Amino acid sequence: MDETPLSMKKRNNKNKKTNNTNQRKCIIHYSSVNSKSEIGQLTPITWQKMKPTDDQRNTSKDCVSEFDEICDSFPHEPNFISHGFHRQCYMIFTNIKKNYCKSMIFKM
Ligand SMILES: [Zn+2]
Repeated sequence: MDETPLSMKKRNNKNKKTNNTNQRKCIIHYSSVNSKSEIGQLTPITWQKMKPTDDQRNTSKDCVSEFDEICDSFPHEPNFISHGFHRQCYMIFTNIKKNYCKSMIFKM
């Protein structure tokens, strides 16, 4: 009979969860957003949505300074354990992306 002690399993899971929450930080933080609001976990899907924004920044220096600031601290590799984002920050981030595209078209 192979019986894994349940009490041990439980304890391990609990420890992991607590650590993750403590370590997680917003990778696209805006100073205007309350940093005490809950930080969502970075997922491969959200990472894919954020990543092209960073690439866009690299193609031109003519972008919003606030946007630049965020991108400077934007990680090159995703860490799905320690990286997270505020929902509000994420919304601002993706909004700037949209505006940035518009201004590009306007200039051309
Ligand atoms: Zn944030």
